[in-house]
Amino acid sequence: MKQYKLLVLPGDGIGPEIIDEGLKLIQQIEKSEQISFVITKELVGGSAIDEYGEAIKDETIAIAKQSDAVLWGAVGGPKWDNPSASVRPEQGLLKIRSELNLWANLRPVKIWGELINSSSIKKEKLMNVDILVIRELISGAYFGKPQERRIHNGKREAVDTIYYNEDQIANIAHLGFKLARKRKGKLHSVDKANVLESSRLWREVVHEIQQQYIDVDFQDILVDAATMHLIRQPSDFDVMIASNLFGDIITDEASMLSGSLGMLPSASLSDISESGIGVGLYEPIHGSAPDIAGQGIANPIAMFLCIAMLFRYSLNLENIAIKIESSVAKVIEAGLRTQDIAEDSKDAVSTKQMANAIIEQYTMI
Ligand code: NAD
Repeated sequence: MKQYKLLVLPGDGIGPEIIDEGLKLIQQIEKSEQISFVITKELVGGSAIDEYGEAIKDETIAIAKQSDAVLWGAVGGPKWDNPSASVRPEQGLLKIRSELNLWANLRPVKIWGELINSSSIKKEKLMNVDILVIRELISGAYFGKPQERRIHNGKREAVDTIYYNEDQIANIAHLGFKLARKRKGKLHSVDKANVLESSRLWREVVHEIQQQYIDVDFQDILVDAATMHLIRQPSDFDVMIASNLFGDIITDEASMLSGSLGMLPSASLSDISESGIGVGLYEPIHGSAPDIAGQGIANPIAMFLCIAMLFRYSLNLENIAIKIESSVAKVIEAGLRTQDIAEDSKDAVSTKQMANAIIEQYTMI
């Protein structure tokens, strides 16, 4: 029987609630398939700050490096929100991304036909929307140095730096073109080349790489135009590649097409080859949702779809990924809705009811 090492980092707020349901799915998969997991659970984010005084321990990073995959809930919350605090929950996430060299963040945005009414966008605009945003994750504005506050002529000032080198851009471009080939064959590269030098290098390198993928329908798009177009005609997009900052913003915007953050998974990957993808970190794109934490009403679907991505990319078990995604689809088709996607909140089911229904469906496929 094949055995995998999984590090589970529930975090704060609804993180532990959705992770608990995800682990039940994994237990079911262990029963149904010929595989097993050695699972290690650790604190991260606010709960780690409370316990250890830091958002992630070095020991946790060391365990992550030895694992096949990492499953992340969410971190943060009002308790740790003081912007001038020296330790913040998000530092844990930035540190693990950087330490594991997770340079590619894949965020699929798919509109489930039955949920089309949950979106604030007109129904007809949402037909056939199926987008994959690939965001560069460990460089750009979030990591460039200097990144500091200082005093100049007696006034406070702050500086962030957008740094990219050609290898970082080339990696994202190759991944974007390769994944576009496996999908509808279309790629948009998002930048701000009319203003930013880092974007001009981005565009130059992407064009050089494009020569190897002339079969892919390719287009540059300025980030401001991309944000408009995502709302005006989202079905025009297939794969989008973007820098860390632009990718962060456009993926949250794209997530609203689907109606709820609670439906969208993401995978952060380090090593990408034809035979599969090395250690990966899988996390829903939503945060810790402090407004609903502890109420048992969070949507667990983003977490379940993260687990599907984990099987697809880190474990190279596509058949299990498809089974999980089909189970989610069947339950949505059957009309089950958590509060965030319910048309009438009195019909909404709890986190556990939704999770149990998906797991039961898994056993029937
Ligand atoms: P959020 O994603 O936590 O919540 C935004 C809205 O979406 C809230 O109304 C929330 O109830 C709803 N929502 C989110 N996930 C849901 C789910 N699974 N089911 C139902 N409804 C859901 O964003 P926020 O409120 O801006 O941030 C809260 C905290 O999370 C902050 O501290 C932020 O820094 C942190 N955060 C963490 C991560 C991460 O760990 N990767 C990502 C984003 C935000």
